[in-house]
Amino acid sequence: MIILSELKVVEDAFFKADLIYYKPSLYSFIEENFSENQPYSLKTLAKLRKIVKDSKDRAHDLILREDIKKIDKEIKSSPKEFDENIWKDFLPKIRHEVKTALGLDFKPRSIFFEESFPEGLGTFEKKGASSITIFEGQNNAGIYFLKKRISSFYTPLLLIHEQLHSCLSQNKTKDQIYVEWFEEGIAMWFSILIYYKLTKNKEVIDIYKERNYIYSKVKPEYNFVKRYFEYIKIMSCLYLSGGPKLFGMMMVDYLSNKREKVNKYLDLEKYDIKFLPKSDIENLLLNMTLFIEPEKTTPLEYLILKSIKKPKTIETIAMLTGAPVDVVQKFLFRLQVKGMIVAKDKYLEMNWRKKDLFEHKLIRPIYPF
Ligand SMILES: [Zn+2]
Repeated sequence: MIILSELKVVEDAFFKADLIYYKPSLYSFIEENFSENQPYSLKTLAKLRKIVKDSKDRAHDLILREDIKKIDKEIKSSPKEFDENIWKDFLPKIRHEVKTALGLDFKPRSIFFEESFPEGLGTFEKKGASSITIFEGQNNAGIYFLKKRISSFYTPLLLIHEQLHSCLSQNKTKDQIYVEWFEEGIAMWFSILIYYKLTKNKEVIDIYKERNYIYSKVKPEYNFVKRYFEYIKIMSCLYLSGGPKLFGMMMVDYLSNKREKVNKYLDLEKYDIKFLPKSDIENLLLNMTLFIEPEKTTPLEYLILKSIKKPKTIETIAMLTGAPVDVVQKFLFRLQVKGMIVAKDKYLEMNWRKKDLFEHKLIRPIYPF
Protein backbone atom coordinates (compact mmCIF):
# COMPACT_ATOMS: atom_id res chain seq x y z
CA MET A 1 0.00 0.00 0.00
CA ILE A 2 1.22 3.50 -0.82
CA ILE A 3 -0.13 6.41 1.20
CA LEU A 4 -1.13 9.22 -1.14
CA SER A 5 0.25 12.72 -0.71
CA GLU A 6 -2.07 15.29 0.86
CA LEU A 7 -2.00 17.29 -2.38
CA LYS A 8 -3.20 14.31 -4.43
CA VAL A 9 -6.01 13.45 -2.00
CA VAL A 10 -7.26 17.06 -1.94
CA GLU A 11 -6.75 17.43 -5.69
CA ASP A 12 -8.70 14.24 -6.47
CA ALA A 13 -11.58 15.50 -4.30
CA PHE A 14 -11.34 18.95 -5.91
CA PHE A 15 -11.62 17.48 -9.43
CA LYS A 16 -14.55 15.36 -8.35
CA ALA A 17 -16.54 18.00 -6.46
CA ASP A 18 -19.20 20.15 -8.08
CA LEU A 19 -18.03 23.61 -6.97
CA ILE A 20 -19.40 27.14 -7.28
CA TYR A 21 -16.11 28.81 -8.23
CA TYR A 22 -14.75 28.60 -11.75
CA LYS A 23 -12.40 25.74 -10.89
CA PRO A 24 -9.23 26.80 -12.72
CA SER A 25 -9.25 30.02 -10.66
CA LEU A 26 -9.31 28.03 -7.42
CA TYR A 27 -6.53 25.60 -8.34
CA SER A 28 -3.62 27.73 -7.12
CA PHE A 29 -5.34 27.92 -3.75
CA ILE A 30 -5.23 24.10 -3.53
CA GLU A 31 -1.64 23.93 -4.73
CA GLU A 32 -0.39 26.57 -2.30
CA ASN A 33 -2.04 25.09 0.76
CA PHE A 34 -1.26 21.41 0.21
CA SER A 35 2.02 19.72 -0.63
CA GLU A 36 2.90 16.65 -2.64
CA ASN A 37 5.80 16.05 -0.21
CA GLN A 38 3.43 15.64 2.72
CA PRO A 39 1.64 12.30 3.08
CA TYR A 40 -2.10 12.50 3.64
CA SER A 41 -3.13 12.40 7.30
CA LEU A 42 -5.88 13.72 9.55
CA LYS A 43 -3.84 16.93 9.68
CA THR A 44 -4.82 17.52 6.04
CA LEU A 45 -8.51 17.64 6.93
CA ALA A 46 -7.75 19.81 9.97
CA LYS A 47 -5.88 22.25 7.72
CA LEU A 48 -8.78 22.36 5.27
CA ARG A 49 -11.29 23.01 8.06
CA LYS A 50 -9.13 25.72 9.57
CA ILE A 51 -9.29 27.61 6.27
CA VAL A 52 -13.07 27.56 6.55
CA LYS A 53 -12.99 28.71 10.17
CA ASP A 54 -10.52 31.50 9.50
CA SER A 55 -12.34 32.86 6.47
CA LYS A 56 -14.10 36.16 7.08
CA ASP A 57 -17.47 37.29 5.83
CA ARG A 58 -16.29 38.85 2.60
CA ALA A 59 -18.00 37.63 -0.57
CA HIS A 60 -15.07 35.55 -1.78
CA ASP A 61 -14.75 33.85 1.62
CA LEU A 62 -18.45 33.01 1.73
CA ILE A 63 -18.23 31.16 -1.58
CA LEU A 64 -14.91 29.57 -0.61
CA ARG A 65 -16.47 28.22 2.56
CA GLU A 66 -19.23 26.50 0.58
CA ASP A 67 -16.72 25.01 -1.85
CA ILE A 68 -14.38 23.77 0.86
CA LYS A 69 -17.28 22.00 2.54
CA LYS A 70 -17.92 20.19 -0.73
CA ILE A 71 -14.24 19.23 -1.10
CA ASP A 72 -14.21 18.06 2.53
CA LYS A 73 -17.21 15.82 1.82
CA GLU A 74 -15.53 14.29 -1.23
CA ILE A 75 -12.32 13.63 0.71
CA LYS A 76 -14.27 11.60 3.26
CA SER A 77 -15.37 9.12 0.61
CA SER A 78 -12.20 9.05 -1.51
CA PRO A 79 -9.25 6.64 -1.16
CA LYS A 80 -6.19 7.80 0.76
CA GLU A 81 -3.94 4.97 -0.27
CA PHE A 82 -3.14 3.10 -3.43
CA ASP A 83 -2.82 -0.67 -3.67
CA GLU A 84 -0.09 -1.10 -6.26
CA ASN A 85 -0.35 -4.90 -6.05
CA ILE A 86 -3.95 -4.98 -7.28
CA TRP A 87 -2.81 -3.15 -10.38
CA LYS A 88 0.34 -5.22 -10.80
CA ASP A 89 -1.91 -8.30 -10.76
CA PHE A 90 -3.98 -6.65 -13.45
CA LEU A 91 -1.02 -6.37 -15.82
CA PRO A 92 -1.63 -9.59 -17.82
CA LYS A 93 -5.17 -8.38 -18.57
CA ILE A 94 -3.88 -4.93 -19.54
CA ARG A 95 -1.26 -6.53 -21.73
CA HIS A 96 -3.89 -8.63 -23.46
CA GLU A 97 -6.01 -5.53 -24.14
CA VAL A 98 -3.03 -3.55 -25.47
CA LYS A 99 -2.14 -6.44 -27.80
CA THR A 100 -5.72 -6.58 -29.06
CA ALA A 101 -6.05 -2.81 -29.48
CA LEU A 102 -2.81 -2.34 -31.41
CA GLY A 103 -2.65 -5.79 -32.98
CA LEU A 104 0.95 -6.17 -31.79
CA ASP A 105 2.68 -8.44 -29.31
CA PHE A 106 5.12 -7.27 -26.64
CA LYS A 107 6.86 -8.30 -23.43
CA PRO A 108 5.81 -6.60 -20.19
CA ARG A 109 8.29 -4.32 -18.44
CA SER A 110 9.11 -4.25 -14.76
CA ILE A 111 7.24 -1.64 -12.76
CA PHE A 112 8.72 0.37 -9.90
CA PHE A 113 7.17 2.78 -7.44
CA GLU A 114 9.92 5.14 -6.27
CA GLU A 115 10.55 8.32 -4.26
CA SER A 116 12.28 9.92 -7.26
CA PHE A 117 12.98 9.15 -10.93
CA PRO A 118 16.31 7.45 -11.77
CA GLU A 119 19.33 9.76 -11.91
CA GLY A 120 19.47 12.20 -14.79
CA LEU A 121 15.68 12.27 -15.28
CA GLY A 122 14.91 15.01 -12.76
CA THR A 123 13.68 17.44 -15.43
CA PHE A 124 10.77 15.10 -16.17
CA GLU A 125 9.66 15.52 -12.58
CA LYS A 126 9.80 19.32 -12.98
CA LYS A 127 7.75 19.13 -16.15
CA GLY A 128 5.00 17.38 -14.23
CA ALA A 129 5.54 13.73 -15.23
CA SER A 130 4.06 11.17 -12.84
CA SER A 131 5.59 8.16 -14.56
CA ILE A 132 8.37 7.47 -16.99
CA THR A 133 9.63 4.57 -19.13
CA ILE A 134 13.27 3.62 -19.56
CA PHE A 135 13.60 1.51 -22.67
CA GLU A 136 15.27 -1.88 -22.99
CA GLY A 137 18.98 -1.87 -23.65
CA GLN A 138 19.49 0.97 -21.17
CA ASN A 139 20.44 0.73 -17.53
CA ASN A 140 17.48 0.45 -15.14
CA ALA A 141 15.01 -0.44 -17.91
CA GLY A 142 11.43 -0.38 -16.68
CA ILE A 143 8.45 1.81 -15.84
CA TYR A 144 8.87 4.19 -12.92
CA PHE A 145 6.10 5.84 -10.94
CA LEU A 146 6.74 8.74 -8.56
CA LYS A 147 5.14 7.77 -5.26
CA LYS A 148 4.25 11.35 -4.32
CA ARG A 149 2.30 11.80 -7.59
CA ILE A 150 0.21 8.67 -7.26
CA SER A 151 -3.48 9.34 -7.53
CA SER A 152 -6.22 6.87 -6.73
CA PHE A 153 -7.83 7.44 -10.11
CA TYR A 154 -5.30 8.42 -12.75
CA THR A 155 -2.39 6.13 -11.85
CA PRO A 156 -4.16 3.06 -13.34
CA LEU A 157 -4.69 5.04 -16.55
CA LEU A 158 -0.97 5.86 -16.60
CA LEU A 159 -0.11 2.23 -16.01
CA ILE A 160 -1.97 1.38 -19.22
CA HIS A 161 -0.43 4.42 -20.96
CA GLU A 162 3.09 3.17 -20.20
CA GLN A 163 2.24 -0.37 -21.40
CA LEU A 164 1.21 1.15 -24.71
CA HIS A 165 4.64 2.81 -24.98
CA SER A 166 6.26 -0.55 -24.21
CA CYS A 167 4.29 -2.18 -26.99
CA LEU A 168 5.10 0.55 -29.51
CA SER A 169 8.80 0.73 -28.70
CA GLN A 170 9.24 -3.03 -28.90
CA ASN A 171 7.67 -3.02 -32.34
CA LYS A 172 9.92 -0.28 -33.67
CA THR A 173 13.51 -0.72 -34.77
CA LYS A 174 16.35 1.17 -33.10
CA ASP A 175 16.56 3.86 -35.80
CA GLN A 176 12.86 4.72 -35.55
CA ILE A 177 12.29 8.04 -33.88
CA TYR A 178 9.53 8.84 -31.47
CA VAL A 179 6.93 11.32 -32.79
CA GLU A 180 5.70 12.96 -29.62
CA TRP A 181 2.25 14.22 -30.63
CA PHE A 182 1.41 10.93 -32.29
CA GLU A 183 2.73 8.47 -29.75
CA GLU A 184 1.45 10.38 -26.72
CA GLY A 185 -1.91 11.03 -28.40
CA ILE A 186 -2.29 7.33 -29.21
CA ALA A 187 -1.16 6.33 -25.70
CA MET A 188 -3.74 8.68 -24.14
CA TRP A 189 -6.52 7.59 -26.46
CA PHE A 190 -6.04 3.86 -25.99
CA SER A 191 -5.33 4.07 -22.26
CA ILE A 192 -8.77 5.62 -21.74
CA LEU A 193 -10.38 3.11 -24.10
CA ILE A 194 -8.75 0.12 -22.40
CA TYR A 195 -9.38 1.45 -18.89
CA TYR A 196 -13.07 1.76 -19.71
CA LYS A 197 -13.18 -1.71 -21.27
CA LEU A 198 -11.64 -3.24 -18.14
CA THR A 199 -13.52 -1.33 -15.46
CA LYS A 200 -16.62 0.26 -17.08
CA ASN A 201 -15.85 3.12 -14.68
CA LYS A 202 -17.09 6.29 -16.33
CA GLU A 203 -16.66 8.39 -13.19
CA VAL A 204 -12.89 7.96 -13.15
CA ILE A 205 -12.69 9.00 -16.78
CA ASP A 206 -14.77 12.10 -16.01
CA ILE A 207 -12.40 13.07 -13.17
CA TYR A 208 -9.41 12.45 -15.43
CA LYS A 209 -11.02 14.70 -18.03
CA GLU A 210 -11.54 17.44 -15.43
CA ARG A 211 -7.92 17.20 -14.32
CA ASN A 212 -6.59 17.44 -17.87
CA TYR A 213 -8.74 20.50 -18.52
CA ILE A 214 -7.82 22.30 -15.30
CA TYR A 215 -4.10 21.59 -15.79
CA SER A 216 -4.38 22.83 -19.37
CA LYS A 217 -5.66 26.13 -17.95
CA VAL A 218 -3.31 26.62 -15.01
CA LYS A 219 0.01 24.86 -15.67
CA PRO A 220 3.01 26.32 -17.50
CA GLU A 221 3.35 25.73 -21.25
CA TYR A 222 5.89 22.92 -20.87
CA ASN A 223 3.71 20.86 -18.51
CA PHE A 224 3.11 17.38 -19.95
CA VAL A 225 -0.57 17.21 -19.02
CA LYS A 226 -1.14 20.59 -20.65
CA ARG A 227 0.62 19.46 -23.85
CA TYR A 228 -1.16 16.11 -23.98
CA PHE A 229 -4.53 17.84 -23.67
CA GLU A 230 -3.80 19.28 -27.12
CA TYR A 231 -2.73 15.90 -28.52
CA ILE A 232 -6.02 14.32 -27.56
CA LYS A 233 -7.79 17.16 -29.41
CA ILE A 234 -5.80 16.20 -32.51
CA MET A 235 -6.75 12.55 -32.03
CA SER A 236 -10.45 13.49 -31.73
CA CYS A 237 -10.29 15.46 -34.99
CA LEU A 238 -8.73 12.52 -36.79
CA TYR A 239 -11.12 10.01 -35.27
CA LEU A 240 -14.13 12.07 -36.34
CA SER A 241 -12.81 11.93 -39.86
CA GLY A 242 -11.83 8.30 -40.25
CA GLY A 243 -12.65 6.41 -37.06
CA PRO A 244 -10.71 3.26 -36.13
CA LYS A 245 -9.76 2.60 -39.77
CA LEU A 246 -7.80 5.85 -40.01
CA PHE A 247 -6.11 5.10 -36.68
CA GLY A 248 -5.03 1.73 -38.11
CA MET A 249 -3.54 3.42 -41.19
CA MET A 250 -1.68 5.97 -39.07
CA MET A 251 -0.29 3.18 -36.93
CA VAL A 252 1.01 1.33 -40.00
CA ASP A 253 2.72 4.54 -41.17
CA TYR A 254 4.23 5.13 -37.75
CA LEU A 255 5.59 1.61 -37.37
CA SER A 256 7.02 1.65 -40.90
CA ASN A 257 8.96 4.74 -39.81
CA LYS A 258 7.25 7.04 -42.33
CA ARG A 259 7.74 10.07 -40.13
CA GLU A 260 6.74 12.62 -42.77
CA LYS A 261 3.59 10.74 -43.62
CA VAL A 262 2.66 10.58 -39.94
CA ASN A 263 3.21 14.31 -39.55
CA LYS A 264 1.02 14.98 -42.61
CA TYR A 265 -1.93 13.93 -40.43
CA LEU A 266 -1.37 17.20 -38.59
CA ASP A 267 -2.84 19.07 -41.57
CA LEU A 268 -6.14 18.89 -39.76
CA GLU A 269 -7.97 21.36 -42.00
CA LYS A 270 -7.99 18.63 -44.68
CA TYR A 271 -10.16 16.35 -42.58
CA ASP A 272 -13.95 16.52 -42.78
CA ILE A 273 -16.22 14.98 -40.19
CA LYS A 274 -17.35 11.69 -41.68
CA PHE A 275 -17.33 9.33 -38.74
CA LEU A 276 -20.07 9.08 -36.14
CA PRO A 277 -19.35 7.62 -32.70
CA LYS A 278 -21.10 4.31 -32.17
CA SER A 279 -20.49 3.50 -28.51
CA ASP A 280 -20.38 5.06 -25.03
CA ILE A 281 -16.63 5.02 -24.96
CA GLU A 282 -16.28 6.59 -28.41
CA ASN A 283 -18.50 9.42 -27.21
CA LEU A 284 -16.45 9.79 -24.03
CA LEU A 285 -13.20 9.92 -25.99
CA LEU A 286 -14.48 12.43 -28.52
CA ASN A 287 -15.71 14.62 -25.65
CA MET A 288 -12.47 14.46 -23.63
CA THR A 289 -11.63 18.09 -24.39
CA LEU A 290 -15.13 19.53 -24.63
CA PHE A 291 -15.55 22.32 -22.08
CA ILE A 292 -17.72 25.40 -22.29
CA GLU A 293 -16.20 28.53 -20.77
CA PRO A 294 -18.62 30.29 -18.39
CA GLU A 295 -18.98 34.07 -18.16
CA LYS A 296 -16.88 35.02 -15.15
CA THR A 297 -17.80 37.50 -12.42
CA THR A 298 -16.32 38.69 -9.14
CA PRO A 299 -17.55 36.87 -6.02
CA LEU A 300 -19.75 39.78 -4.89
CA GLU A 301 -21.27 40.21 -8.35
CA TYR A 302 -22.08 36.51 -8.25
CA LEU A 303 -23.73 36.69 -4.82
CA ILE A 304 -25.77 39.70 -5.90
CA LEU A 305 -26.96 37.91 -9.03
CA LYS A 306 -27.89 34.89 -6.97
CA SER A 307 -29.93 37.08 -4.64
CA ILE A 308 -31.98 38.67 -7.43
CA LYS A 309 -33.41 35.73 -9.32
CA LYS A 310 -36.60 37.48 -8.18
CA PRO A 311 -36.87 41.32 -7.91
CA LYS A 312 -35.38 42.80 -4.71
CA THR A 313 -34.60 46.25 -3.29
CA ILE A 314 -31.04 47.40 -2.61
CA GLU A 315 -31.59 47.03 1.12
CA THR A 316 -32.72 43.42 0.77
CA ILE A 317 -29.78 42.63 -1.52
CA ALA A 318 -27.38 44.12 1.05
CA MET A 319 -28.94 41.96 3.72
CA LEU A 320 -28.80 38.79 1.62
CA THR A 321 -25.19 39.25 0.51
CA GLY A 322 -23.88 40.62 3.80
CA ALA A 323 -22.28 43.60 2.02
CA PRO A 324 -22.79 47.29 3.00
CA VAL A 325 -25.44 49.20 1.00
CA ASP A 326 -22.92 51.61 -0.59
CA VAL A 327 -20.77 48.71 -1.82
CA VAL A 328 -23.82 46.91 -3.20
CA GLN A 329 -24.84 50.10 -4.99
CA LYS A 330 -21.44 50.30 -6.70
CA PHE A 331 -21.61 46.67 -7.80
CA LEU A 332 -25.19 46.99 -9.01
CA PHE A 333 -24.04 49.78 -11.27
CA ARG A 334 -21.29 47.55 -12.66
CA LEU A 335 -23.74 44.72 -13.25
CA GLN A 336 -26.10 47.09 -15.02
CA VAL A 337 -23.31 48.25 -17.35
CA LYS A 338 -22.55 44.60 -18.13
CA GLY A 339 -26.22 44.02 -18.99
CA MET A 340 -26.64 41.45 -16.28
CA ILE A 341 -29.46 43.11 -14.35
CA VAL A 342 -32.50 45.27 -15.01
CA ALA A 343 -34.04 47.87 -12.71
CA LYS A 344 -37.77 48.52 -12.33
CA ASP A 345 -38.68 51.30 -9.87
CA LYS A 346 -36.73 50.44 -6.72
CA TYR A 347 -36.54 46.76 -7.65
CA LEU A 348 -33.62 45.02 -9.27
CA GLU A 349 -33.71 41.73 -11.10
CA MET A 350 -31.38 39.50 -13.09
CA ASN A 351 -31.65 40.05 -16.81
CA TRP A 352 -33.57 37.05 -18.21
CA ARG A 353 -30.92 36.49 -20.88
CA LYS A 354 -28.35 35.92 -18.17
CA LYS A 355 -30.72 33.96 -15.97
CA ASP A 356 -30.78 31.04 -18.42
CA LEU A 357 -27.00 30.84 -18.26
CA PHE A 358 -26.77 31.47 -14.51
CA GLU A 359 -29.12 28.63 -13.75
CA HIS A 360 -27.01 26.25 -15.81
CA LYS A 361 -23.76 27.30 -14.13
CA LEU A 362 -22.51 29.16 -17.18
CA ILE A 363 -21.96 32.25 -15.04
CA ARG A 364 -19.40 31.61 -12.35
CA PRO A 365 -17.35 33.59 -9.85
CA ILE A 366 -13.56 33.74 -10.06
CA TYR A 367 -11.52 33.21 -6.93
CA PRO A 368 -9.42 36.39 -6.48
CA PHE A 369 -6.07 34.84 -5.59
ZN1 LIG B 1 3.58 8.89 -22.58
